[in-house]
Amino acid sequence: MSTTERPRILVVGGGYVGLYAARRILKKMRYGEATVTVVDPRSYMTYQPFLPEAAAGSISPRHVVVPLRRVLPKAEVLTGRVTTIDQDRKVATVAPLVGEAYELPFDYLVIAMGAVSRTFPIPGLAEQGIGMKGIEESIGLRNHVLEQLDKADSTTDEDVRRKALTFVFVGGGFAGAETIGEVEDMARDAAKYYTNVKREDMRFILVDAADKILPEVGPKLGAYGKEHLESRGVEIYLSTSMDSCVDGHVVLKNGLEVDSSTIVWTAGVKPNPALARFGLPLGPRGHVDTSEKLQVQGTDYIWAAGDNAQVPDMVGRRAGNPNAWCPPNAQHALRQAKVLGDNVISGMRGFPQKEYSHANKGAVAGLGLHKGVAMIVMGKVKIKLKGRLAWYMHRGYHGMAMPTWNRKIRVFADWTLAVFLKREVVSLGAMETPREEFYEAAKPTPAPAAAKPEGEKAKAS
Ligand SMILES: Cc1cc2nc3c(=O)[nH]c(=O)nc-3n(C[C@H](O)[C@H](O)[C@H](O)COP(=O)(O)OP(=O)(O)OC[C@H]3O[C@@H](n4cnc5c(N)ncnc54)[C@H](O)[C@@H]3O)c2cc1C
Repeated sequence: MSTTERPRILVVGGGYVGLYAARRILKKMRYGEATVTVVDPRSYMTYQPFLPEAAAGSISPRHVVVPLRRVLPKAEVLTGRVTTIDQDRKVATVAPLVGEAYELPFDYLVIAMGAVSRTFPIPGLAEQGIGMKGIEESIGLRNHVLEQLDKADSTTDEDVRRKALTFVFVGGGFAGAETIGEVEDMARDAAKYYTNVKREDMRFILVDAADKILPEVGPKLGAYGKEHLESRGVEIYLSTSMDSCVDGHVVLKNGLEVDSSTIVWTAGVKPNPALARFGLPLGPRGHVDTSEKLQVQGTDYIWAAGDNAQVPDMVGRRAGNPNAWCPPNAQHALRQAKVLGDNVISGMRGFPQKEYSHANKGAVAGLGLHKGVAMIVMGKVKIKLKGRLAWYMHRGYHGMAMPTWNRKIRVFADWTLAVFLKREVVSLGAMETPREEFYEAAKPTPAPAAAKPEGEKAKAS
């Protein structure tokens, strides 16, 4: 940590908002005007819209993340977690990966800690479930699903096989629908290489408490997405929820019971709960309350944006809805970050703040190779696309939205190679316990029982 006399702009979180805001500030800043410090427990930003494709093996997981130190060479990047903020002293407490927590003084503060999976106290969920918020989960899910096919292919126990081949996904928004679409597609592809596993042996189940899936693309395309997934054999249960999943025994409110080794939880997000310790004004659902200028209410040196902030949606408000808030998505996070960066610079120089206002540009979702839905908003016109064309839109949009040319090129290269070489369908589940085999080889072998002297043998007998 540097201890310069320059003012410090502390950016808490190096995700979408943190990365883009820090880049913007560094770009607009005069040489030596301030120190920009980014703190995040991970040393990389994750491009979350690509997590389902990483889970399906269409993109290498390393290409879905952006190394913070590499793209922010002029910033100070600290790997750790901000645990508290003392506003009176303008000091943050940072818990590094190892060692004692320390205090970090700041002059300006950016809160960009994003969201975490929104869960409920469902028996068995914490032990059996896996989320879809980070690259680690995406890699873990892919390895796990392929491992289930390996298990099912090589067991003679019908119950074990059925449980291994049943995949339950809870939550049918973007994350859930895209992940089940991609993973089903991968499993279907992978099944071609197994002797005893066919797609018909697998059960893919999608559960949602709402009466539709993919609400982000509107009711018509959502209905198409549902029909499409059903045509691929995905069972979709709407207006129901999961009551329990103890030991993988899934019980739904509608009465369905199945045993499953794979329970993927994608039922929405909630603002980072660590915010509660920061003493900032929070909205009813735990978001940091900001003005339309992205300043935290009642402050002139703290800004917040993205999934952890409740930002007024000025387009909706001007259209007559006084309670319109920006939804938590990348479209807003990215644009808010740029305005936020400009406002931090203006705040530092004593200039007026800019308002954040953005009209929804639509949404794109991939549901597996060559399948997707897209809604493009152009003024008052909404263009709805489905199938292959929508999938190209999805790939084109996200491929170009991926931060840095280095990452864009890697992602497009992955897609191009897959056209000729087909996707990899190997499970590297042992990656999670890389030392196991070495431990077995290196552990001390117990000394053989010492042979007793001849005389003692005779006595004993
Ligand atoms: C599977 C999936 C698919 C998605 N698909 C789409 C899509 O197609 N289109 C779309 O618009 N949006 C999509 N989204 C949503 C989009 O990714 C988010 O809205 C966006 O990432 C929000 O950006 P953010 O900066 O607020 O949070 P994040 O990008 O999540 O960044 C938050 C950062 O804060 C860090 N952090 C957490 N706690 C601390 C702490 N205590 N101290 C310091 N740092 C901390 C985290 O490590 C993380 O790096 C998707 C999300 C998911 C999960």
